[in-house]
Amino acid sequence: MAGATPGANKCTRCHGSRCCTYATEALGAAPRSKSDFEHLLWQVSHQGVEIYKDADGWYLMFQGACEHLLPPDGACAIYDTRPQICRDYSNDWCEFDEPAEKGFELYFRNHAELLAYCKKRFKSWGKR
Ligand code: SF4
Ligand code: SF4
Repeated sequence: MAGATPGANKCTRCHGSRCCTYATEALGAAPRSKSDFEHLLWQVSHQGVEIYKDADGWYLMFQGACEHLLPPDGACAIYDTRPQICRDYSNDWCEFDEPAEKGFELYFRNHAELLAYCKKRFKSWGKR
């Protein structure tokens, strides 16, 4: 979300600007019921949609590069007018230093992974 810009040394060394290759959205409340997880199973079945939980809660993650990310070095095409969240993002400790997944308590990249979790979490999963 920071995007590389001349003079931002760390970001200019980060080929592809890793923080600009996905978007996230917090789930309003932690999923609890079977019905909540059924809904998540539908969402995670779509290409590029993933789900994770970290210390702050549950999130949807949409894998896909920002349309403003310029090849080949990952500069931001709208740097001067980039969204506020991109301006607020700090590169003090970011994906360049450590993959974001390291902070995930749970991480589901597809239907199969979430389904396996559902079966563990709900002993009655699949029984009507
Ligand atoms: S607008 Fe620029 S800084 Fe923000 S995610 Fe897109 S490429 Fe990155
Ligand atoms: S992941 Fe870090 S180093 Fe790479 S562009 Fe984003 S803020 Fe800069």
